[in-house]
Amino acid sequence: MYHELEIPGRPLCRSEAGYSRYVLEETDFRSQMRWLRQAGWRGMSVGEALGLAPQNGEQRHGVVVTFDDGCESDLMAAAPILKDAGYNATFYVTGGFLGQRGYMNPNQLHELSAAGFEIGCHSMTHAYLTDLDEDGLQYEIVQAKAQLEDAVGKAVEHFSCPGGRCDARVIKAAESAGYRSLVHSRIQVNTSTTNPFDLGRLAMLRQTELPAFQEICRGDGLWKIQLREGVRSAAKRVLGNPLYDRGRALLLR
Ligand SMILES: [Zn+2]
Repeated sequence: MYHELEIPGRPLCRSEAGYSRYVLEETDFRSQMRWLRQAGWRGMSVGEALGLAPQNGEQRHGVVVTFDDGCESDLMAAAPILKDAGYNATFYVTGGFLGQRGYMNPNQLHELSAAGFEIGCHSMTHAYLTDLDEDGLQYEIVQAKAQLEDAVGKAVEHFSCPGGRCDARVIKAAESAGYRSLVHSRIQVNTSTTNPFDLGRLAMLRQTELPAFQEICRGDGLWKIQLREGVRSAAKRVLGNPLYDRGRALLLR
């Protein structure tokens, strides 16, 4: 799971520490994709991964590359690097961010989709969905889908939860809206038997060095990251979203 990529000379969409922690430099993303390719991994979109049949009972290994939020760097930096590697990816876009400073506008989104990349939905306003009532879920999940489909002229079938916040109501709303999959950000290796509405991801952080990235792709040492994330999600549950965010902003300052 990637977010914005930093391009030399360009300001980021947001400046707080909690945001830039998830922003990789363009050159680091390029090194990661180069290594993946040289090491023989298949890089793909969510839709491609869901269409893979297990071969002779064996899993075919691949890495699904996703981007959240819909930053302009998706089109300007990520897309050409992925093209060079011959990889597809899924770009989850927040409908309400389209056209804001640093984010793609509808034409750029159309261009990204026309280049062959998969476009998914990352809600309308980036609200934490677990805090919303039914009307709120409709707006964030159903209307955002229609808006993005208008922009790309294709079906948008994959959903990513803002802040990874997800529960049974959110999954049900996404299923009835006609999505084929939902990703959150709990860390797990997804296999052909994983429920497509329970796909885990792992956030790539600014300080993720290449050896750590290689370990992650092989699925080695995930328990260490799971343990760290376990503490974070326990804190989210105990504190609730607003208090958790305030505490996190203080800690990262
Ligand atoms: Zn997001």
